Amino acid sequence: MTTPLEISSVFAPGHETVLRVEDAATGLTGFIAVHSTALGPAAGGLRMRPYASTDAAIEDVLRLSRGMTYKNAAAGLPLGGGKAVIMGDPAEIKSPELLRAFARAINTLDGKYWTAEDMGMTPADMTILAEETRFVAGLPDGKFASGDPSPITARGIFQSIRTTARHRFGSADLTGRTVAVQGLGHVGAHLCRMLHEAGAKLIVADLDTARVAQAVAEFGAQPADATGILREKADILAPCAIGGILNESTIDGLQVAAICGGANNQLATDEDGKLLHARGILYAPDFVVNAGGIINVATEILEIGARDAFVDEKLAALDTTLDRILTRAAQRGCSPNDVATEIVDEILAPKAA
Ligand code: NAD
Repeated sequence: MTTPLEISSVFAPGHETVLRVEDAATGLTGFIAVHSTALGPAAGGLRMRPYASTDAAIEDVLRLSRGMTYKNAAAGLPLGGGKAVIMGDPAEIKSPELLRAFARAINTLDGKYWTAEDMGMTPADMTILAEETRFVAGLPDGKFASGDPSPITARGIFQSIRTTARHRFGSADLTGRTVAVQGLGHVGAHLCRMLHEAGAKLIVADLDTARVAQAVAEFGAQPADATGILREKADILAPCAIGGILNESTIDGLQVAAICGGANNQLATDEDGKLLHARGILYAPDFVVNAGGIINVATEILEIGARDAFVDEKLAALDTTLDRILTRAAQRGCSPNDVATEIVDEILAPKAA
């Protein structure tokens, strides 16, 4: 017998649909936010974490789903922006029944929202969701399964670092440039390898000291502590761990000429983009730079047969978009983050009209 679900609407101006999903039998409380379907079905991952309150979970899902609209549009994908969150510690309450209940809630949106892996979720969890819904990507196997997105994410960041370097230093050549990488997880580790092979010198930090030790051994990287890395002298900072690290208390201490990395929501607020600009630090907007992952996931949602060609084409287009953003920002003397937001608004405006 299937569990009865309670699904209700959450009032969220600016979003198309936000659902609250509850299932007493499995302890499920979650939210699905569809920010925009102007460009296509909303796509964005499912995150599970122990939020401090319902308000905190709603705030996260609204912010993340809006971010996906911007990321997907900037990447030239025929996808809108959406995201889902489940409240609770995955280690404590995640169960196949809970996931199946959530999948049934996804079905009520009739394909307006596609989910995938995010924090607290694994490919195996996606397989469980797929037992109930077809609107799921990031599956470990299947005809269009797209696998681990992080190598593609790292490729996108690497090419963006080169483009950022060209704008900031006049050359994309990274030989001898120092790059400080915060976070050596899925994305950071791949990125470090590419940077090392391109001749860059690395300064690295992670809360996991084993990952730092590995980067020191493999790439001759200089270790730094997890927060201290934001004060290291380097040409480029590549944040690849958590969001919100560029804020009014950290920006003053930065000793880099440019920032380009994979972490989502690096700026605590849009104002911090302006602060970076005022300090003369060139910031490559994260939602443009880190779209390789969703490009990879898109091959699964859109059932792209010629996967590698699609990824190559979209990554090349991403590079052109970043170049346009940095060029326009330089011409206007403003923050690239503001220009990137403006460019996406231009893409969305005719569709939303
Ligand atoms: P991950 O969990 O594999 O790695 C994150 C790493 O950061 C871990 O090694 C962790 O120990 C470290 N870390 C956490 N907090 C830290 C801190 N305060 N200081 C230093 N290190 C810290 O995650 P990932 O998949 O590599 O993703 C990294 C970032 O990139 C995240 O913000 C993620 O949202 C974003 N992102 C990832 C992808 C992808 O394809 N995986 C795509 C787009 C964006």
